[in-house]
Amino acid sequence: MFENYEKAGKIASRLRKEASKKAVAGTKVVDLIDYIEGEILATGAGIAFPFNVSINNMAAHYTSAPGDDTLLCNGDLVKLDLGAEVDGYIADTAVSIIVEGENKDIVDENGKKLKQPGRLDDGNPEVTTEELELSQDLIEASSAGLEAAISLIKPGITLGEVGTVIEKTINDKGYKPIANLTGHSLEQWELHAGLSVPNIADKNDHVLKEGDHLAIEPFATNGVGLVKDVPQHYIYKYLRNVPLRQPQSKKLLKRIATKHTYLPFARRWFLDQYNEHELNRNLRPLITSRAIYPYNALQEKSGCRIAQTEHTIIIESDGCFVTTR
Ligand code: MN
Ligand code: MN
Repeated sequence: MFENYEKAGKIASRLRKEASKKAVAGTKVVDLIDYIEGEILATGAGIAFPFNVSINNMAAHYTSAPGDDTLLCNGDLVKLDLGAEVDGYIADTAVSIIVEGENKDIVDENGKKLKQPGRLDDGNPEVTTEELELSQDLIEASSAGLEAAISLIKPGITLGEVGTVIEKTINDKGYKPIANLTGHSLEQWELHAGLSVPNIADKNDHVLKEGDHLAIEPFATNGVGLVKDVPQHYIYKYLRNVPLRQPQSKKLLKRIATKHTYLPFARRWFLDQYNEHELNRNLRPLITSRAIYPYNALQEKSGCRIAQTEHTIIIESDGCFVTTR
């Protein structure tokens, strides 16, 4: 078991580093995602959840939908959050980067201009020095929060104490953690296995013990420190089998129940069998009948930028081992 955690951790860590190098201005988000997910599979490991590439004020649960033509833009603050599993043992890790390189106006084969959210946020094609400094500060604050938590964690520490050190570290840098996003425990084939690891001072007195397997993920912002759901969803989880009238939806649910029984999946992963329109039509009854759960994408409530840093750890007798270092 430990070996599999470690193996998954090494794969996730290597690809997180590779993704940060590849995330340059002009890169199509879906190309980066397809490449990294392909590399995870090429190692023989599984994809623990769709590769999340959340830009600027998007916090999490964003991955490309079919037909996504978003481009990374110079100055974008991008959260690269990915996961690998080996025999169901999961490594979940994230880093935030500032996109560098020359912005280009890129048009598709029909002459349509491709989206560049960094520019569209405020309508300004150039990122300012202040914006760059802010993004860098947010990255440092979330990363310092994570390191403070890792230094503290050992058997006997409570989850509340972990949240307290994360909040204090981020506050000391002049920013706020996101109060309604947390880290989580992990179990075999279970990405969110019951425990929440708070990013704020919290009364949670659950005591950590040797062998616990956790993902710690502080988010830092200059905004109000909360995220809200946006209506769009890109990532889903199988819940249960339900009777369905439409044969095509039935067939889709069968595939999901077989191939994605335990771990989250993206709509993109079904384009081998359906076009975008068919897929959305067949997926809708699965959501309304609660056969699958849609994760709405999450955005900072006041529209401000967010940075995230995440590692997966295993608690040892005298501290913790970071599997995704
Ligand atoms: Mn993650
Ligand atoms: Mn996580």
